[in-house]
Amino acid sequence: PLPDMKGQIEFDKVQFSYDDNRIALHEISLDINAGQTIALVGHTGSGKSTIANLISRFYDPTKGHVRIDGKDLRDVKLDHLRQQISVVLQDTFIFSGTIMENIRFGRPDASDNEVIEAAKVVGADEFIGRLANGYETEVEERGNILSAGERQLLSFARALLADPKILILDEATASIDTETEMKIQAALRRLLDGRTAIIIAHRLSTIRESDNIFVLENGEILENGSHDEL
Ligand code: ATP
Ligand code: MG
Repeated sequence: PLPDMKGQIEFDKVQFSYDDNRIALHEISLDINAGQTIALVGHTGSGKSTIANLISRFYDPTKGHVRIDGKDLRDVKLDHLRQQISVVLQDTFIFSGTIMENIRFGRPDASDNEVIEAAKVVGADEFIGRLANGYETEVEERGNILSAGERQLLSFARALLADPKILILDEATASIDTETEMKIQAALRRLLDGRTAIIIAHRLSTIRESDNIFVLENGEILENGSHDEL
């Protein structure tokens, strides 16, 4: 088996273009220590998802290097990288099947008990218990019987079960009530424990708790620092 990654991430003068017309990232450099949570904030089109795409290696930089634990991503085996990264998207991917199957998607070999344990840790167990058939409740592709907050908790349970070293989270923008917000915040804290996390942050509560916040504008880092510093 390959050694586990520590999860230290470095962008070294990374430039990237999706096409010849426009530069999406202009020679940006940033360091994320292993275990840190960083937030990416900025207007639409500023380059947040592009940074996430480069860490997942959906693309390679046009110039410069992305390194994990000091190693250029081009030299890391793709399946090894993907094993250590979980991406939780804004529009949580839910497929038609049971709740149990949807959470297990994070780790196909997990037992029922492990699925339930993960759901408990992020506090998803409570709403699942209220569903007609609990963990065996069928959901449709868009997760129509679940609220935005419940879908987010479900995706956290899935990510926790997968147990990645690096977590990339594109936070949901949907408005949710204060009580759900608090649940999500508590769940997020548990999910982030012991991992490196890159959060495309929309919630002030997340931004406040991040170790470092990067403000992007037109593919450049405008400034960075903690919530108090900015
Ligand atoms: P949002 O908040 O809307 O998600 P973002 O900060 O994630 O925005 P990016 O998706 O990183 O922004 O986009 C950065 C730039 O790259 C934008 O100019 C965008 O138009 C361009 N871009 C993004 N994806 C593609 C693509 N697949 N092909 C071509 N250009 C793209
Ligand atoms: Mg985006």
